[in-house]
Amino acid sequence: MKNIYEVGNVGENLKNRYILMTIIGIIIIILILFIGIVARVNTKKQKKIAKELQVQEQMEKEKEEEIMRFVLENKQKEKEEEEKATGIIYLTFDDGPTADSTPQILDILQRNDVKATFFVLHYSEQNEELIKRENEEGHKVALHGYTHTYSEIYTSADSCMENFRKIQEQVYNTIGEKSTIIRFPGGGSNTISRKYCEGVMTELTQRVIDEGFKYFDWNVDSDDAGRAKTSDDIYNNVTNGIKPGRSNVVLMHDFAKNNKTIDALDRIIAFGKENGYVFRKITDETPMIRHAVNN
Ligand code: ZN
Repeated sequence: MKNIYEVGNVGENLKNRYILMTIIGIIIIILILFIGIVARVNTKKQKKIAKELQVQEQMEKEKEEEIMRFVLENKQKEKEEEEKATGIIYLTFDDGPTADSTPQILDILQRNDVKATFFVLHYSEQNEELIKRENEEGHKVALHGYTHTYSEIYTSADSCMENFRKIQEQVYNTIGEKSTIIRFPGGGSNTISRKYCEGVMTELTQRVIDEGFKYFDWNVDSDDAGRAKTSDDIYNNVTNGIKPGRSNVVLMHDFAKNNKTIDALDRIIAFGKENGYVFRKITDETPMIRHAVNN
């Protein structure tokens, strides 16, 4: 038989155990509640983030669609203008960029809101800014060659292709765009190449197209690299060469000290506008203007 003291002790122990169990129970309930609340808050947070992402994606999509719409509308507008126009004038400048002529030409184009095409040669780091400026102001940076030295370019079709690839890469490194619009040094009709490789132009004029390029000769020659001596000569050569109802690709140059062309440019643009022509840059969609091949 147990004594009273022992019985009392057992009762005390039971009571303590009961209290302990209750406390543990309460702690467990609190923990469960806490976890539940945290889980709910987290779910809410995740839902909020997901919704925000969805809204952001939607906004980006709408923005893209708006840009697409703008581009399409602009294209449509340009097309309508071209249909109504007397003809199209593509001003093209070869052999640049040069610190001397290119900025002056860009200023004139900007002032007149005219876009043009620059067939560029290898340029120094200093002149990189000019290529960037051409691109940023909406002109086409097209390719003329890494070098203009015929004896290096036209020894074989491979070396000419290499000459285009090298300038293509330099332009890509400057503006992040792989230009596929090219102009052969001397033009597709040049005969000088015969001196270095018989038949090379016949091969090249096909090969560049097979390799994804489009090449452009010209049908209006300012003759600023030839016999034209004054800005009047340039003006007359260009305005006499421009014909209605067709694409007029005008050959000019932004090599150094080409003041005669720079001085004629404002007047040439005024002539074009006054006579109902529109000015365009060459794009991937522009139909090629090509000379007959002579080698
Ligand atoms: Zn040239």
